[in-house]
Amino acid sequence: MKVYSFLRGGIRYTDLTVPPRDSSTTAFLPGLSVIPLVQHIGSRANPVVAVGDRVSEGMLIGRGQGLGSANIHATVPGRVVRTVSWKMAEGITNDALVIRLEGGFDILGRRQEIFPWQGLSPFELQRIIAEYGIVEMEGSGRPVSDMFYALRSASDPVTLVARCIFDDPWLSADHVLLKERFAAVAEGARIAARAGRMGRIVFALSRGEKDMGSALMDSAAGAGVSVSLVYTGARYPQRNRRELELVLKRYAKNEGIELGTILALGPATLAAIHDAVKLKKPILDRYVAVGGSAIKEPRVMKVRIGTRIGEIFAECGGFIDKPKRIGSGSPLLGRTVVDLDEPVIKTSFAIFAFLSAQIGGYERSRCIGCGECRSVCPVGLDPETLYKFTGGSNARDGGPSRAAECHGCGCCEVVCPARLPLSTGIIRSALRGA
Ligand code: SF4
Ligand code: SF4
Repeated sequence: MKVYSFLRGGIRYTDLTVPPRDSSTTAFLPGLSVIPLVQHIGSRANPVVAVGDRVSEGMLIGRGQGLGSANIHATVPGRVVRTVSWKMAEGITNDALVIRLEGGFDILGRRQEIFPWQGLSPFELQRIIAEYGIVEMEGSGRPVSDMFYALRSASDPVTLVARCIFDDPWLSADHVLLKERFAAVAEGARIAARAGRMGRIVFALSRGEKDMGSALMDSAAGAGVSVSLVYTGARYPQRNRRELELVLKRYAKNEGIELGTILALGPATLAAIHDAVKLKKPILDRYVAVGGSAIKEPRVMKVRIGTRIGEIFAECGGFIDKPKRIGSGSPLLGRTVVDLDEPVIKTSFAIFAFLSAQIGGYERSRCIGCGECRSVCPVGLDPETLYKFTGGSNARDGGPSRAAECHGCGCCEVVCPARLPLSTGIIRSALRGA
């Protein structure tokens, strides 16, 4: 079995506080669900229900407004009891509808009707995927229908890459989802390939996932498209777009195939595409890795979108002691959570609480010139020097000119013994155009 890896830098990222990858448990249904109208990168969805209205499970409650915005659905049956707004750590204000659980479920516990999709045109599949508000659940939250739309003018062939790479231990929810729902992921890939008029599917898996690779290939057989499998190294950030493309180029050259334009989607997104098209079901829940040194019983849970983060921590036994850092996503790149009433959204693949700041943090010291940050940078940058210029005063000297090349993987920040917020500072500098 040949394994393809990017050549330079990267880290072996381990964290003993992540939940085990064996199986998932289902979280309690929340009595009150907080459903934000922004769960994606674009503008907020327009609410189509008001306070006092009854909603059913899976009902449309917010309509997406153009590119970057996605439809939002009620994840439990009940009544809209109020609207709330709160400021997130990034200073963005989010609005949400609060639904009190009432009445019977239309989907949960019911026999699910199967809708055949093989006879549907790419246009019809894209419409269903948009209608059910499917977004990229492992990353930006970009609507998948926008991704298909962007491909319409591609002149070269398009390849769907099912990105099942676990270079970050905080992707354990995706790992469990893939184990428990591999058939849905494989069929989701076939549906996505048809919707996006893609002639080839490549399953990209971390080394060591041989059984999963065979299961995915068996499930995707007979897709009417070419299906292949590539194993990648497990070094972080193998899953990043740049490092993934490097590896795929080498793979394509070795195999003598042309991949053309690549659309990479993760297992949660592919399973959601399957559910939307085959079961006519919006994203009602997602797999979430709940862990960190402050959590008594870390675990992977299936959580309804809209469940408040504080409730999930409580279901995991609560805190061992007062956490110093609470966040959503991977601790490497994730965002800080300032309010435990903040809900799980479509992109919340992990939530964590730590007793210490872990990466970066407040107990900083001076750079000791160890060079560790340079040795791990996959782009070949000098994070130490770039960071020195992020203060702004020396920006005119041309020092930070390579800051724009940083893709924010965070490797430099993880290894820095002085705990300097290197990648955070470099990205800010790049955004300022310094
Ligand atoms: S400088 Fe940027 S690309 Fe290089 S290791 Fe740091 S965050 Fe990653
Ligand atoms: S890793 Fe930190 S301490 Fe070492 S050279 Fe880079 S900035 Fe300095």
